[in-house]
Formats: sequence, structure tokens, C-alpha cells
Amino acid sequence: MKAIRVHAFGGPEVLKIEDVPTPRPAAGQVLIRVKATGVNPYDTYMRNGTYAIKPPLPYTPGSDAAGTIEAVGDGVTRFRPGDRVYTANTLTGAYAEHTVALESQVNPLPDRATFPQGAGLWVPYGTAYHALRHHADARGGETVLVHGASGGVGLAAVQIARALGMVVLGTGGTPQGLELARREGAHQVFDHRAPGYTEAVLRATGGQGVDVILEMLANVNLGADLKLLARNGRVVVIGSRGDVSITPRDLMTRRASVRAFTLWSITGPEERETHAAIFTGLENGTLRPVVGKELPLAEAAQAHKDVMAPGAFGKIVLLP
Ligand code: NAP
Repeated sequence: MKAIRVHAFGGPEVLKIEDVPTPRPAAGQVLIRVKATGVNPYDTYMRNGTYAIKPPLPYTPGSDAAGTIEAVGDGVTRFRPGDRVYTANTLTGAYAEHTVALESQVNPLPDRATFPQGAGLWVPYGTAYHALRHHADARGGETVLVHGASGGVGLAAVQIARALGMVVLGTGGTPQGLELARREGAHQVFDHRAPGYTEAVLRATGGQGVDVILEMLANVNLGADLKLLARNGRVVVIGSRGDVSITPRDLMTRRASVRAFTLWSITGPEERETHAAIFTGLENGTLRPVVGKELPLAEAAQAHKDVMAPGAFGKIVLLP
């Protein structure tokens, strides 16, 4: 089969398409024929060798695949060949024509979702749901500011927050991204590159501040976020690419807090709840992953450049 292989950490050019043996599922594992693979920013940090998880070389990147079950190992009970599935990680890497995953890493993909949509599920929707429900304790009627509402996690958060009954404010950096965030459910949108946009956010809350902020770029925004919070407000740090300085008194005077997580540390019960919510949301049309760009698997290097470039518009997926 064809697979992307990384033999040395480095820039996008280290992503090479190669012929490798098709893996076989051992006991408790499944073999998936991959129809689409999601490209996430962390794939690029891992490829650079700067991520907390450094895989042994060579490796095949990717955790988010969607496709059909091709074969199952001994003891697998939840899946049969032909089933439509998406992965929340794999054993052999998702940037490939086939991937082997533990049965527990695989979940059913409702008929209503396409394979490219299925490739945009676990990291984006899992992160957004985990942030809102398990970290922010978000409630209907509260106001949430989704920073980076034009991207994969941000659009998922907009849709989930609307389903929870929240008032949703979103930021993006291009007219197209802002329009997309609005189309997917944001009540109001703000250009995070426009000077003074934080005052406009505050005005949109009648000066009260927002209850929850989902922060995709904390190293840029965290200091300003704290000044936008309502009493008992919560910032959930999802993404950060450097250091930042804050004024702790902004937290003290608001009884506010900053919380943070990586999706890898989700607990078993939280993960089961999250998959159940994703499945139901896809089934009833509440959740509609937006695929902004599809590229052939061989163009993984281009996809890595695109995912780090400004002007996000939903998910970038690779088609093997
Ligand atoms: P993405 O699809 O590339 O989207 C990135 C988003 O960030 C876009 O909406 C972009 O807006 C926005 N952005 C750029 N500059 C910004 C600024 N100054 N202020 C606010 N937003 C800004 O990436 P993603 O998949 O949604 O992931 C978002 C971040 O979360 C990444 O850093 C990723 O590594 C991280 N993440 C963390 C976890 C975790 O477990 N903690 C899980 C998933 C993702 P424009 O392009 O429109 O300017």
C-alpha cells in the first residue's frame, strides 16, 4: 500500500509517499481501508520533532482516519468487514491507504457523514466537546467566545455551543472564515486581526463580559482574554505556540480561572461520552463537519503548509 513516511524530523518536505507492506490486524485490532484522513496542526509539530510525543522513526503520521473495516483480528466484537468507521488514533498511522487500530480506537460513522467529514471528527470535535463540557462546564444561556472559529476545532465548538443553547461569539481572520463561522452558528463574529476588536466583543455582551473563552492561540490572546471575562468566567486554553504574560489581578477581581488540557489525557468515561455525543450530533444533523480542502495523499507536504497558514476554512483532508 501507499503510505506517508517520515524518516527524519524536519519541514514538510520530510513527508514522503512510499510503498510499504499492508499491515495485518492482530487480536483486538482492526484493519481499515482509509477513505480520508484529517490533517491537524499537531501533525506538523510532531513532524518537526518539537511535540511532547516524539514517535520512533520512521513513522506514518495521523490519528484521524475515516473508512471501512477491511478485516478484524481475533476477539473483535464491535465491527465487521464493510462497517463505516472513524478513528481516534491508530497503531500504524492514518496518512496511508490502510491503517491498523485497536478496536477501542475505532467508532462507527453514521451514514449521514461523508468519509471526508469523518476524517474531521476526533481531534476537532473531540477537543471542542471536551473543552466545553469537561473543562469549561459550559451551560445553556452562557456566552462563549470561540477564538479561531474558522478552523477545525473552532467550527466544531461553534456547532456544539449552539446545540448547548449558548450565545456564541466567534473570531476569524478573513471575511470567508468569518462568514463560515456565522453560517455554522455564531451569533456574532469578529476579525481577530482588526485593531480594537476586543472592545467590540465586550460591547456585544453589554459590557458584562463572556462566561467562557475557547482559546486557540493563547500565546497571542491570553492576556487580553482575561479582561473580556465575566464574573466566574473560564478560559480554556486549547492551542498555544509560545509564552505570554498575563495580569493575575484580572482573574482575582472576576473570580475567574484558566484551564487547559491535551486531548491525549481524556479519561475513558469522558471519551465514551464524547463519542456518543459526536455520533448523535452527526445522526441528527446538529454536527456538520466542514471540509474546506481535499488533497491527494501524495500532497501531504502541501497540506502541512496549508494547515499552518492564515485563512483557515474548516478542515483539510487527504484522500488516499
Ligand atoms: P486550524 O484549523 O488551523 O485553525 C486555526 C484557527 O486559529 C483559525 O480559526 C485561525 O483563524 C485561528 N487564529 C489564527 N490567528 C489567531 C489569532 N491571533 N487569534 C485567534 N485565533 C487565531 O487549527 P485547529 O485544528 O482548529 O486547532 C487550533 C489550535 O488548537 C492549534 O494550535 C492546535 O494545535 C490546537 N489543538 C489543541 C488540542 C489539544 O488537545 N489541546 C487539540 C486540537 C487542536 P484564521 O486562519 O481565520 O486567521
